[in-house]
Amino acid sequence: MATHTQPCGKAMAVSEEWRQQWIEAVSKIRSNVSYEESAQQLRSLQQTGLLKLTDLKYNPGKFFEAHRLLARHAPNLGPGFWIRFTVHYNLFAGSVLAVGNEQQVKQLEEIQQKGFLGCFGLTEKLAGVNSGGVVNTIAEWDDQTQEFVITSPEVGAQKNWISQGLVGELAVVVADLRVAGKRCGAHAFLMELRDAKGPVPNVEFGDMGRKTVGNDLDNAWIAFHGARVPRHTLLSRYGDVQPGNGGTYVSKVKGLTNMAMIGQRLFSGRVAVAWAALTFTRKLFEMTRAYSDHKKCWIPKNSTLTEVPQLQHLYLRADETLKKLENFVGSCEKQLSDCLQKDEIPPMALQEAIASAKILASETSIDLCFRLKQDVGSHALMGDTGFEQMDFLQACKFAEGDSRILMQKLARDRVRISSPLGSSEEQQLAKELQDAMKGGAKAWDANFEKVYDLAWQVVQRNVATVCPGTSLRLPCGLSKL
Ligand SMILES: Cc1cc2nc3c(=O)[nH]c(=O)nc-3n(C[C@H](O)[C@H](O)[C@H](O)COP(=O)(O)OP(=O)(O)OC[C@H]3O[C@@H](n4cnc5c(N)ncnc54)[C@H](O)[C@@H]3O)c2cc1C
Repeated sequence: MATHTQPCGKAMAVSEEWRQQWIEAVSKIRSNVSYEESAQQLRSLQQTGLLKLTDLKYNPGKFFEAHRLLARHAPNLGPGFWIRFTVHYNLFAGSVLAVGNEQQVKQLEEIQQKGFLGCFGLTEKLAGVNSGGVVNTIAEWDDQTQEFVITSPEVGAQKNWISQGLVGELAVVVADLRVAGKRCGAHAFLMELRDAKGPVPNVEFGDMGRKTVGNDLDNAWIAFHGARVPRHTLLSRYGDVQPGNGGTYVSKVKGLTNMAMIGQRLFSGRVAVAWAALTFTRKLFEMTRAYSDHKKCWIPKNSTLTEVPQLQHLYLRADETLKKLENFVGSCEKQLSDCLQKDEIPPMALQEAIASAKILASETSIDLCFRLKQDVGSHALMGDTGFEQMDFLQACKFAEGDSRILMQKLARDRVRISSPLGSSEEQQLAKELQDAMKGGAKAWDANFEKVYDLAWQVVQRNVATVCPGTSLRLPCGLSKL
């Protein structure tokens, strides 16, 4: 396994002039609005042209900084607008960039100018956090009409939780492609969901219902009842369908599957989500500190709440921990940006580091903010303090790769390696799991605590490799049940 040798670093720089313009633009965003009004805010924001739908590839520093600056408003705005924004710029436009052909990528310019919004239809009801691994939506090639027919064969295959699914004009929909009766695997389709007259035929939409936070974001379930879409909707950089004789699937780049390339979006998403969790946490601590610095307290002389020892300690610990994590995530961002610009798949070591960064940033943020809530007294119960938006971090935990699923993947990949790697504890756990697995696949779940212990060892190794000398404590959410 290749090691990750680039030094620990800060996030990539963008011009100060652009930063100020973006700060000004996002300062106008409001969350106490309907989801239609919230969508209108995103349409207007993209029409400023400050952040292009193609910046993820050509200017990734700007793409990540835009996400971070927006996340600074999260303790006031909640998660709704941030999710809407990242779904449009990363998952929707990013997928077109990753698997679209030249013409399809070019369409992004027009989409931005018109202020159209796009969704990303991956998650299905049955698949949940295992989305991507399980895709039961079908796209059947009809050679006669040269169209794809998109169907949800059962309720479990309906798309679920799709952000801006009730307002978006467009969607990247992931479906299992069938050509002349043969399964060709999961592929992405850039399809219209609505035109000026309303929803397109044979697509049914439902509202996921009221959430604890982020109700300025519409989340939809979507059922396809034989929706017909033209041939050019297949994002065809890596694979296409040739019409005639029932149709033929053509793989354009040997060894690269469409789904693997769609999965690339999850890496930029994971870095953006990791930053969002850390930025939320920094801001919540700043807001709370501004309160506790002025709150008089008896301890025993007339003093402030900030001087209460456990709170003082927590502020120090949070600052130190956040600095370490910001360094780690910054380094992952730098290396990923390089891959994005060169159009390369991140090496395995970077993929693992990014997964570790996402797990650590969201779980440590949940831990720190929970502790802060416990130790700051009645303030945490008040509205507009940021504490009412803490479920922002809940969304960070499962978006673009749930912590548990990422940990399972880290552990699974580690168990496949038989040569010595990592600390003696890591080697011991890997060996125990390798031995247990000789008894059959069921041993994996039966040893789930060892699985997560091993994953934690891998996470720690990744941090220490990218940022030598850095160690972090196990977040409570990942400790033994
Ligand atoms: C606000 C919001 C916006 C979203 N936007 C989009 C979007 O735009 N597009 C899109 O495609 N999706 C979107 N999603 C879906 C999201 O990415 C997740 O896929 C989805 O929330 C999964 O939720 P679930 O509760 O159904 O997961 P479940 O699959 O029911 O999992 C519940 C929990 O069980 C655990 N678990 C499940 N399976 C396993 C396993 N095999 N091993 C170990 N643990 C397991 C996990 O810890 C998980 O947290 C969105 C979700 C939300 C809430």
